[in-house]
Amino acid sequence: MNDFVIMGECLIELAWDEKGNINQGFAGDVYSVAAYLKRANPSARARLLCAIGQDALSQALVSSLESETVETSLLLPHPQRHLGLYAINNDAKGERTFMYWRSESAARQTLSLLDAATLLQAPPAVFYFTGISLAILEPDSRLAFWQLVESLISAGTRIVFDSNYRARLWAHKDEAKGQYERAFTSAHMILPGVDDFEALYDLQSGEAVAEFLSQFDVETLVIKNGPGEILYGQPQALERFPVTPVAQVIDTTAAGDSFAGTLLAQLSKGDALVDAIARAAFIAGRVIGHKGAILPANLYPAD
Ligand code: ADP
Repeated sequence: MNDFVIMGECLIELAWDEKGNINQGFAGDVYSVAAYLKRANPSARARLLCAIGQDALSQALVSSLESETVETSLLLPHPQRHLGLYAINNDAKGERTFMYWRSESAARQTLSLLDAATLLQAPPAVFYFTGISLAILEPDSRLAFWQLVESLISAGTRIVFDSNYRARLWAHKDEAKGQYERAFTSAHMILPGVDDFEALYDLQSGEAVAEFLSQFDVETLVIKNGPGEILYGQPQALERFPVTPVAQVIDTTAAGDSFAGTLLAQLSKGDALVDAIARAAFIAGRVIGHKGAILPANLYPAD
């Protein structure tokens, strides 16, 4: 279980600092998942599957992922398109506003650039994607995406789905629900966030999410609820993990992504689920006590 393909969209990030300067970096839920996975298990193989451009910024993304030791062989250069971009503005009161330019991004056409047959010749142990990975795909690539997932399952790959629901990326809630229900049907492991299920299905607790998901044939659930307790295990026999709330939350960006990356890494190292959750919750707690998605290497806590 040491070989991961993580599919989704990497973005250019522009962020204003306190002095009004704009700093450029890279982000996206899957970028953070891959980076935290490799921090927690450097000997794991993590490949990010995402279409990028043939331009200097896309090359800088490749270098940035290489610096996190994430494999870049599945970053697929699109002949015309570029990376999507977003900007974060912090106002004087600390309120953050996000602006996105991603509707024409290369990532939306990842499936048409992928040589699925080659990937399937040596299928990964785990294929990870999120609600954002689904939302950004152009509707006419969805069929190819689900065919890929089915072929991976037949080849023995484990499917992990993180709910990450972003309403603004979907034309209609019903469209999102249709795609999510395919994901629930396909996934061996689901990492739901209660806030996502509240927005999509009006479910307000971990128990309600578990009850809803019990209609699908899922092996493992890890249901997150911010500082609330985590429900985990088989849908019919869930256990509870108490989260220690962080006293001073600075920035919740990448809470769920650092949790997911760490969880998968710990499981790939042979941890029991409860131990993997404990480490994932600990790392997520550190991440939200710090500004930005990725902890600087010197602040990343040793085992
Ligand atoms: P998502 O981004 O998927 O919605 P959550 O916000 O539920 O994820 O957070 C993921 C994990 O991050 C939680 O399960 C918990 O371990 C940790 N976390 C989130 N918020 C807090 C908090 N305020 N205090 C401590 N840990 C937190």
